[in-house]
Amino acid sequence: MQKPFAAFLSLGLLAMPAEAAPSGGVTLTYYGRASVKLRTAGGLVVYVDPFKGDYAEPADLILVTHGHDDHNQVGKVARKPGCVVAAPAGAAAKADLAVVEGRPFEAAGIRVLPVAAYNKNHARGESVGYLIELGGLVVYHSGDSSRQPEMAELASRKIDWALLCTDGYWNMGPAEAAECAALVKAKRSIPIHSSPNGLSDAANEKAFAAAAPGALVVPVGGSVGL
Ligand SMILES: [Zn+2]
Repeated sequence: MQKPFAAFLSLGLLAMPAEAAPSGGVTLTYYGRASVKLRTAGGLVVYVDPFKGDYAEPADLILVTHGHDDHNQVGKVARKPGCVVAAPAGAAAKADLAVVEGRPFEAAGIRVLPVAAYNKNHARGESVGYLIELGGLVVYHSGDSSRQPEMAELASRKIDWALLCTDGYWNMGPAEAAECAALVKAKRSIPIHSSPNGLSDAANEKAFAAAAPGALVVPVGGSVGL
C-alpha cells in the first residue's frame, strides 16, 4: 500500500520544477563562448562548438558551426562508439559528415538541420547554425551570425529554445539578438558567445535578457533543464 502513495508523492515533487522551466527532459550545460552540451534524460549527448569545457561525458554527436579555433576543438571531446562529428567542409579535424545549409541529417536518433549563419566576419557556406531536435524539443543554435532574412523562415519551426550570439563585435549584439529571438518565434532563449574574446560577458547577457522575452542567462559551467 505504500508504493502507490510514494509514487504519487514523487510525481508531485517532479511537477514543481517543471513549472519554472517546461521540461522536455533535456539538460543544457553552458561552457562559455558558443559551447554547449545537450543531454536527454535517456542519456543522448550532443556537444555544439567545443572550446574550453568539460567534455568528459562521451558524445553521440558533435556539431561544429564553423572552422574558427574557439568553435571546433573536437579533439577534446570524449566519444561513444559510432559518435558522429558534423561540421561544414574543412571546419573540423576528422569530421564524419560535411554539413550543408538546408540539408537535414540524423545521427543517434537526433534530427539536425543546418541553417544559415553568416555576417561580415563569417562567410555563408563556411558557417552554419543548427536546428536540433531531441527529447521532444527543438533547439536552435545560431552559430556565429547576425540578423539575416533567412531567420524569418525559422518562425514556422516551433523553436522551443534559441541560443543566440550576443557579442556585438564579431556578431550581432544583444539588442539585435533579442530581435532575432522574436523573429524566429522562439519560446525561450539563452544568450551565448556574449564576449568578443572571453568566455562570457555579463553586461551583454544582461542586456539580452532585458530585451528578449523569455530569456534565461546560464552562467559558464551552469546547467539548466530545458
Ligand atoms: Zn566565434
